[in-house]
Amino acid sequence: MLAQTAGAKVEGAIIQHVQRLNHAYYMGQGKVEELAALREEVGYNLVIFDDELSPLQQRNLEDALEVKIIDRTALILDIFAKRAQTREGRLQVELAQLEYLLPRLVGQWSHLERLGGGIGTRGPGESQLETDRRIIKHKILRLKDEIEGIRKHRALYRRQRTTHAIPVASIVGYTNSGKSTLMNSLSKASVFVEDKLFATLDPTTRKIMLPNLQEVLLTDTVGFIQKLPTMLVAAFRATLEELDEADILLHVIDITHRNAAEQSATVEQILQELKLANKPRIEVLNKLDLAVPSESEMGDFISKNTTGGKDSVLISAAKKWGLKALLEKIAFVLSESGSHNRGYVE
Ligand code: GDP
Ligand code: MG
Repeated sequence: MLAQTAGAKVEGAIIQHVQRLNHAYYMGQGKVEELAALREEVGYNLVIFDDELSPLQQRNLEDALEVKIIDRTALILDIFAKRAQTREGRLQVELAQLEYLLPRLVGQWSHLERLGGGIGTRGPGESQLETDRRIIKHKILRLKDEIEGIRKHRALYRRQRTTHAIPVASIVGYTNSGKSTLMNSLSKASVFVEDKLFATLDPTTRKIMLPNLQEVLLTDTVGFIQKLPTMLVAAFRATLEELDEADILLHVIDITHRNAAEQSATVEQILQELKLANKPRIEVLNKLDLAVPSESEMGDFISKNTTGGKDSVLISAAKKWGLKALLEKIAFVLSESGSHNRGYVE
C-alpha cells in the first residue's frame, strides 16, 4: 500500500520469517539467491524492504542483486517528501533525508558531484567523499537552525491566535484517508475567509465559517503511519506539535479501506502518545461515495453499519457529501466543550 502511494508498480511480494536477522544481508543467503533468480525471471528494477535496513545491508544487497534497494524508511521519506506542505514539514523531511543519506554516502558521491558539489569546493587533501560529508553536515546544521527559527515564529503566531480566540479544528488521520481533500472541500463549502497573515505563515491553515457564523481555523496535518521508522519519529512529531493548539480533532477514516479499523486504532494510539486523547473529537467516516451510489443513500448506510453513540459523521470529501452536517457537528461539539468562550475565560 505504501509502495503504491509512492508511485511504484508492485510485481510481487516475498515474506520471510526469520529467527535471527542476517547481519550482512538482512535475510538469509538462500533468499538472496532466490531474489536474484527472480530478477532473471520477471526483471524487476527495485526491491522494497518493509523494515529498516542498515547502510551495510542495503549496500550488500544492492551489490548482490544489482538493483536499487529501498527500505521502509526511504519509502516513507519519499512519501513525506511528496506530501509535506508546511515549510517546517518540508525542512524536517529534508533534514531526515540528509541524516538518512550521511551514513550511506560511500560510493554515492558521484551523484553529488553531478549536482554541483564538484570542482573547486574540495578542501586541501580531502577526498570527494569527505567533502560531500562535510557539505551535508553543514547543510544539516543550517536546516536545524532554520527549523528552530520557524518554531520561534510559530510560538509568536500562536500567542496572537490565542488572543484572537478563534477555535482551531485540526484534521488528523491515517495517510491517504482523505485529509487534504476534506480540507479543500471544507474551505470551498463554507465561507472561505482569505487571511493574509495565516495564508503566508502556514499554507495548511484556513479560516472557515460554521453555519452559526462562528469562525474556525482549520489545519491539515501529515498522515499517520503504522510502524514509523525510528529516525522519522522526531520529524513526524514536530509536525504534529501544532495539534496541542487544537480545540477539536477531526479524525478522518477511509471506511472503504480493508484495514480501516486497524488504521483508526493506530491514529488513536498516536494521539494518546501525544497526550491528545482527551481533546473533543469527531470521527469523519470518509469515501462514502465508494460504498453507496448517492448522497441520499448515506442514511441507509448509517442505519446498517454504525452502532451509534460516538460523534461520527459520514461524508464523501471528494463529492462534498455530508459537509453541512459535519460543519454543524463541529459547531455543536465546540459549544459543548465551551471553546466558544475561549478568550473570555483566559
Ligand atoms: P490524505 O493523505 O489523508 O491527505 O489523503 P488525500 O486527501 O490526499 O486523498 C487520498 C486519496 O483518496 C486521493 O486519491 C483522493 O482523491 C482520494 N479521496 C479522498 N477523499 C475521497 C472521497 O471522499 N471519495 C473517494 N472516492 N476518494 C477520495
Ligand atoms: Mg494530505
